[in-house]
Amino acid sequence: MNVYDGLRIAAMLEHHGFVQTDNVADADIILLNTCAVRAKATDKVYSALGRIRRAKKPDAIYGIVGCVARESGADAFKKIRDLNFVLGPQSYHKLPEIINDPDTKLLDINLGGLEKFDELPPITKSPHVAYIPVQEGCNHCCTYCIVPYTRGREISRPFTDIMTETMHAASVGAIEICFLGQNVNGYKFTDENGKTYRLSDIIKQTAKIESVKRIRFTSSYPTEMTDDLIELFGTEQKLLPFLNMPIQSGSDNILKKMNRQYTLDEYTKIIDKFRTVRPDIQISSDFIVGFPGETESDFDATYRVAQNIKYINSYSFKYSPRPHTAAALMENQIPENIKSARLAKLDSLLNENQREFNISCIDKTFDCLYESPDKTGTRHIYRTPYMQPCIVETDCASPMARIKITSANKSCLHGKIID
Ligand code: SAH
Repeated sequence: MNVYDGLRIAAMLEHHGFVQTDNVADADIILLNTCAVRAKATDKVYSALGRIRRAKKPDAIYGIVGCVARESGADAFKKIRDLNFVLGPQSYHKLPEIINDPDTKLLDINLGGLEKFDELPPITKSPHVAYIPVQEGCNHCCTYCIVPYTRGREISRPFTDIMTETMHAASVGAIEICFLGQNVNGYKFTDENGKTYRLSDIIKQTAKIESVKRIRFTSSYPTEMTDDLIELFGTEQKLLPFLNMPIQSGSDNILKKMNRQYTLDEYTKIIDKFRTVRPDIQISSDFIVGFPGETESDFDATYRVAQNIKYINSYSFKYSPRPHTAAALMENQIPENIKSARLAKLDSLLNENQREFNISCIDKTFDCLYESPDKTGTRHIYRTPYMQPCIVETDCASPMARIKITSANKSCLHGKIID
């Protein structure tokens, strides 16, 4: 979501005559696009602002946009007095106001809904992957999560707006489309004729675009997986066989305290349905360890799920108490050292699962999408349908290539282009 917001902000600034620079000392305007999901990300923002303040030209304007801006509000100006702007995730289209009048201080952390999508110029070139948001905000109230506060209630964008943006992205070079939402599979929009569109309708329509070869979406809420969407994995070959479906915890007791609206058994049955319609599907998950009140046996249940489901790639976090959330006020907060030990144990299993899956790909052939040169600049990175990075040596890196996997380790694959 932040990558998308960043591209839209860059397109807007280019529209106003700015060019991008990597050098803070050259910049006339500097902004940090921020994430507030965990405290660590928020803490980094203020130290980064301090560094920018020392390095920037004296008259350069600078500020923060995104969820930390929304979380801090006017306090950000108290912490850093000469900051020029603080704009929440639904207000960054107001940036030109401060460009026109740099002597004011601009604060807007309102949750205005979808206005920003209409006010910003479209991106002018697309990397091979285009991110297209289908909604803003989230209506699930997971007790650990700050997103409903920072991005507001869930609003689905009109179907035709999404399709216009998708076709535009394809026309400027996108080959893979990744639909985005905090609760992407909960997408639901009813037009003026009473016709209701779901995520499956967006995917079906997108699959008709000849130059789009791969479609995916993130991030899904397990119980919003409706049958129309699950069945599409069996019929629509452009839909990648890879799904991020966060479980968070394997303990029903903790899931309840998190206000996740499923049990382990219900979650597992959804995965079984996917595996029936698309046997080659692989799943990734998000985990939170050390949620308030998590016992050793709750944690063991999470560990067992990771053993049984064999996620191929996961994101795991220590629980981080966040302002405006119910869990931050719960009793039995878990000490940091226990959280760290549980995370280390879970991570070593998740890493081993990932390594095993990567090794199982050796000798298989996949259609892969070009990403970029690797660090050496002499080899190239492609992405498999499971989003694994795959390094190849070639003089002719075409956007899509059929690649045979020759070796693998935990973090990447190596392969040869076969046609
Ligand atoms: N709706 C999005 C939420 C984005 S946050 C999604 O489902 O991905 C991404 C992940 O961060 C969540 O899935 C969760 O695992 C983790 N997370 C959210 N709040 C957290 C918190 N307070 N502490 C630790 N991890 C958290």
